[in-house]
Amino acid sequence: MENLYNISPFYLWLLLLSVLALRYVLVAGIPYLWLYVFGKKKYKDLKFQNELPSEGQIFNEIKYSFITLCIYSSGIWLFLYWLEHGYTRNYSEISDYGWSYLIFSIVLMVIIHDAYSYWIHRLMHHRVLFKHVHLLHHKFKNPSPWCAFAFHPFESLLTLGIIPVVIFLIPWHNYALIVFITLIIVYDTFVHLGYDIKGLKIFKWQNTAKDHDVHHTNSKYNFGLYFTLWDRVMGTYKYNN
Ligand SMILES: [Zn+2]
Ligand SMILES: [Zn+2]
Repeated sequence: MENLYNISPFYLWLLLLSVLALRYVLVAGIPYLWLYVFGKKKYKDLKFQNELPSEGQIFNEIKYSFITLCIYSSGIWLFLYWLEHGYTRNYSEISDYGWSYLIFSIVLMVIIHDAYSYWIHRLMHHRVLFKHVHLLHHKFKNPSPWCAFAFHPFESLLTLGIIPVVIFLIPWHNYALIVFITLIIVYDTFVHLGYDIKGLKIFKWQNTAKDHDVHHTNSKYNFGLYFTLWDRVMGTYKYNN
């Protein structure tokens, strides 16, 4: 980590943006080419909504997602400041807590993030915030994988808030945080797949692309990210057969 402090803040930002953008392009681009380009006839029956998104929509999804990634990357300066001053609960040796804790800490991050996402998302549906902020994401009624981070900048900032929550709350290793951030990109893309791909639903309470597609067509239901737990508890779950 020490070497990073020698890089100018701008290049540090650019480096993180490149890493995040590359992951986004790979994670969204591969299923997009597979389902929306080469397999659009073969997988036609698995598409939740009949129409394919227009080129204009895809352009906007990528544009807003890229702006979000620029905002996420800006968090690196604050992140390194906290890290350098020892404010977070970062530890450097895996042996300090062991491998089982390292794995458990990733699970914990996901559970915390699931609750955080659900309640931030509920907040976004407050009349005022919906109209001025969250409506942007809901303009994509027939989302594609590129929609994963197509948020209003204020929503991007709020969603970034999960990082300080986990790094201040639980002991964490750099590897765990890297895996967690990768999982966020993968899962946010997965719920915007737009297709019902069998085998991707592993357990009953998992939030899927089908569940999130319901949210894009009927914004009263399915606010969850990874699990449907909070939706079931709060009575906002709707499964569309
Ligand atoms: Zn969405
Ligand atoms: Zn929403």
